[in-house]
Amino acid sequence: MIYNEYGKSGIKISAISCGGMRFEKTEDTDAAAELVKKIHSNGINYFDTAPGYTNSEQIFGKALPEIIRKSGRESFYISTKTSAETPSAAKKDLETSLSRMNLSYIDFYHMWCVMDIQDYETRKKNGVLKIFEQLKDEGLVKHICISTHMSGDDIKKVIDDYDFEGVLLGYSAMNFNYRERGVDAASSKGLGVIAMNPLGGGVIPQNPKLFSFLKTQENEAVAEAAIRFLLNDDRITSSLIGFSNEGQLNEAMSAIAGFKKISETKREKIRKQLKEAFNEFCTACGYCNSCPQNIPIPKMMDAFNYYLIEKDSRQAVINRFKWHWCLAPDDELFRKCVKCGKCEKLCTQKLPIIKRLEIIREIMSNEPDKK
Ligand code: SF4
Ligand code: SF4
Repeated sequence: MIYNEYGKSGIKISAISCGGMRFEKTEDTDAAAELVKKIHSNGINYFDTAPGYTNSEQIFGKALPEIIRKSGRESFYISTKTSAETPSAAKKDLETSLSRMNLSYIDFYHMWCVMDIQDYETRKKNGVLKIFEQLKDEGLVKHICISTHMSGDDIKKVIDDYDFEGVLLGYSAMNFNYRERGVDAASSKGLGVIAMNPLGGGVIPQNPKLFSFLKTQENEAVAEAAIRFLLNDDRITSSLIGFSNEGQLNEAMSAIAGFKKISETKREKIRKQLKEAFNEFCTACGYCNSCPQNIPIPKMMDAFNYYLIEKDSRQAVINRFKWHWCLAPDDELFRKCVKCGKCEKLCTQKLPIIKRLEIIREIMSNEPDKK
């Protein structure tokens, strides 16, 4: 295993880490807990969960006490989160997480799913960060972090505003452009950077031809290549993989085992190819982001990217909004476009944004899971 230092904490984190939101059979907590133990025995020492990932915290609650008995509490680091907007709700969330996981403290506690600057400022003004600090003083939380899907520029604003110790953000070969400045800012300020979703939610391994140029070695699987794309990035502390089963663990371990650092020139070439290969894709440059209706167009177009890659898959769009952007099908944002055309004039890729928004609106209106 390769270990990297998490920001300025002095803690060494495995270069691939375990995300707890994709266990194959969540109802079979014994099997999922066995997988967690296996992951730990392979040298992976960072586990990420959240109260909203079905019964993920309960699964860790089954596995971690056994790991502690065998290898000690210092043999792993646990990360969980709260999206609470008030101090009392944040405290309650932490107590629930501790009790579910049978732990006395959380290593990395995240202000969770921060969607935009206003959302961040509201929570901060309400005192959420103050209670985080109090919980840290009480020893219930070791490090205060943020988990976000904001653009790179907004991530930079937030980490300039508050001394978070680490950031958890979606970052992969598919969307690196969108978060580039955030990753740069976090790493140069000395924060730990955990990249979630390095396989683009499974889209990269499911489309090996499309992503074949990621490969830098002979006989390399595209999933290995996507993981190594991030291993080659010194700014990333760890890539968080939502393991479903042992097969995926083995794939990730083989990406680590056969990892060879590539030159900066070669890495730049891959990044250039990635940008070029996705011509009809939104590159998340953000130039269109001044919609009079406050529609977050880059987020909408990001979800549409998945529709294109997964060959008109409605479910891909629904999943992206639900799991990544925390937008429910009945969110009014899907129905707010007045077709003024401002965004299309600004779009650097000249994308048919209005048409795409119509398709998204139709998909989300017919989503049976609508609240
Ligand atoms: S066309 Fe729709 S999405 Fe684009 S700027 Fe106008 S209202 Fe916003
Ligand atoms: S300007 Fe175009 S490519 Fe850039 S974020 Fe907006 S929709 Fe995407």
